Amino acid sequence: MKQQRTLVTGAAGFLGSHLCDSLLALGHTVVGVDNLCTGSLANLRHLEKEARFSLIEQDIIQPFDPGPVDFIFNFASPASPDDYMRLGVETLLVGSQGTINTLEIARKYSAGYLHASTSECYGDPLVHPQVETYWGHVNPIGPRSVYDEAKRFSEAAVTAYHRYYGVDTHMVRIFNTYGPRLQANDGRVISNLMMQALRGEPLTIYGDGSQTRSFCYVSDLIDGIVLLAQSSRHTPVNIGNPTEWTILECAQEVLAVTGANVEIVFKPLPQDDPARRRPDITLARTLLQWEPKISLREGLERSLPYFEQCIAPQRIATTA
Ligand code: UDP
Repeated sequence: MKQQRTLVTGAAGFLGSHLCDSLLALGHTVVGVDNLCTGSLANLRHLEKEARFSLIEQDIIQPFDPGPVDFIFNFASPASPDDYMRLGVETLLVGSQGTINTLEIARKYSAGYLHASTSECYGDPLVHPQVETYWGHVNPIGPRSVYDEAKRFSEAAVTAYHRYYGVDTHMVRIFNTYGPRLQANDGRVISNLMMQALRGEPLTIYGDGSQTRSFCYVSDLIDGIVLLAQSSRHTPVNIGNPTEWTILECAQEVLAVTGANVEIVFKPLPQDDPARRRPDITLARTLLQWEPKISLREGLERSLPYFEQCIAPQRIATTA
């Protein structure tokens, strides 16, 4: 990839900040945008002295002009179920008006564009594993709908800007991802279980724990996204780890990695919680020669120091 001026929305988020790191390592200049509604400046602190990085504090639902850019990565959105249900209307707006605003920037500057879509487009899937050609099984008015439908609208908008205006667009459907900088308190399964284990609290499993997810380590995901950005594919591509785990099995992995000796407690299953989720990554394998390398065990081991650091201030507070 030649050196470019890139725009990353959601730059202070978990994925956005890792993407900024990768783009900078490849020699690009990065303009980050974030309104910090769920992102954190702590995720970008290590870039404070990086001359090729700048941050605009901005909500992308308001039109803005970052100046000429060569490529836009649209990663702005609340993304954990707790966050997007709390920020329901904001989530709908960022996935509709926000996406249109960033597509307008791409159109104005003839920039490439990659949109962060999601496995939630498949809803509670009736096809397993999920292939890109599956249209999904989504409740348009359920508690998850603010996220699912915003992301589905975004896919339609991105496709329209390619179809009608010839913008060079790409879409990644991201499956469950974890690693350092995952918000410790965002309510997701990996963050909850790791934090509970490290605090010596019981692990909370929603439902009977037989529902499945397929967890991808963040560096694997970012590698796939950077490759997709350089491809000529305009339709969505699944990027995720195809190894499927029940949530109960995932809890066992967390216990093994943390060495915690805590019990598991069962809580009610939230409404519309997908029963299973696993990406079919045949397309990514053939198109990008990409596949994930890091197992759940190894990824949790790599994430452990981060989660330990997240509980450290509270430890100090309790002992003080
Ligand atoms: N989950 C759980 N315990 C928790 C948090 C989540 O059992 O403390 C379950 C949740 O019900 C879902 C799965 O773990 O079935 C993944 O949830 P997460 O919020 O990480 O993301 P999702 O894949 O549902 O968007």
